[in-house]
Amino acid sequence: MPPEKHHADRPLRVLVTGGAGFLGSHLCRTLIGLGHEVICLDNFFTGQRRNVADLMGHPAFELIRHDIVNPVFLEVDQIYNLACPASPVHYQYNPIKTIKTSVLGSVNMLGLAKRVNARILQASTSEVYGDPQVHPQKEDYWGHVNPIGMRSCYDEGKRCAETLFFDYHRQEKVDIKVARIFNTYGPAMAANDGRVVSNFIRQALTGKPLSIFGDGSQTRSFCYVDDLIGGLMALMDSPPDVTGPVNLGNPDEITIAELARIVIEMTASKSAIESHPLPNDDPVQRQPDITLARERLSWEPTVDLQAGLQASIDYFADLLDIKISRTA
Ligand code: NAD
Ligand code: UDP
Repeated sequence: MPPEKHHADRPLRVLVTGGAGFLGSHLCRTLIGLGHEVICLDNFFTGQRRNVADLMGHPAFELIRHDIVNPVFLEVDQIYNLACPASPVHYQYNPIKTIKTSVLGSVNMLGLAKRVNARILQASTSEVYGDPQVHPQKEDYWGHVNPIGMRSCYDEGKRCAETLFFDYHRQEKVDIKVARIFNTYGPAMAANDGRVVSNFIRQALTGKPLSIFGDGSQTRSFCYVDDLIGGLMALMDSPPDVTGPVNLGNPDEITIAELARIVIEMTASKSAIESHPLPNDDPVQRQPDITLARERLSWEPTVDLQAGLQASIDYFADLLDIKISRTA
């Protein structure tokens, strides 16, 4: 049988929107390493050139400054649509722009996929479940989302993007994949990212108090970036009937207070804990059910929290030029 057009068992031309961001830069590097041609497209809102500096000059890598709110015309085999700020601080900075990125950006990328017959993967999010009343979250749970709150520009933008993906699939036969990504962390997160893992590590390394929002009893499940990239690529290369949505994340759930304790211990930091008000609509608990990913993608995370945090601590220590003494 001839190889399937979109399958990555031959060199492909792959578009990664948001490719200069945290997840995007890891994905670009992995794809280049596998022999693919990569077009990294970014408006540099939260992404940085330094994330892909090592790829610049590689003959198979191209970097384009472009905003996906505007159409783009390219010939590609696969599209990973990752462009969108992911940290609550960044996506709430300009909420109208955030929702335009998810909605207009998806229309533009789906239009491109349709025109050039490319397979397209959407980086959706556990936020589509909102503050979930079902635990752990399975893909058939419809969610509990405030449509008019501070997080809505992101949550509802991503929900509308999922709708667009499935309507382009049903109406226009576009070959789609929808990944619901749960909290992911690791090297290449921006120091000012504002998400909890990067905040705690930066604060611990610089001797500043760790900012716990609320009483720290809320939970999250943290996935290391290498695991997540493997999941995204497994989904992209899955058979056409696996459209998703598929949860991708690490099911190990932890309270934010416990995360703070571990980070302080691993960095041997003298930082105190400082309480801050809990932001509105902050989900109380979050844990992915990854049965579907295990069954259809043969994928599950392999990096435990301790190992992932150590790699992240090393990255931030290097970034901030801080010498650290290992505790383990
Ligand atoms: P990030 O902020 O580091 O990366 C997003 C990238 O998109 C940045 O490089 C940014 O400059 C770019 N971008 C933003 N708006 C754009 C636009 N209009 N046009 C072109 N580029 C634009 O965030 P990340 O953690 O790498 O997240 C990547 C994707 O994965 C996002 O879509 C996010 O919603 C999704 N996601 C991430 C997580 C996570 O925990 N990291 C969880 C769920 C979903
Ligand atoms: N959080 C915190 N301190 C911080 C940043 C975040 O306590 O400095 C909390 C936040 O309120 C949430 C959890 O950590 O309950 C995860 O927040 P993050 O911004 O990383 O991602 P979210 O899952 O909320 O999108």
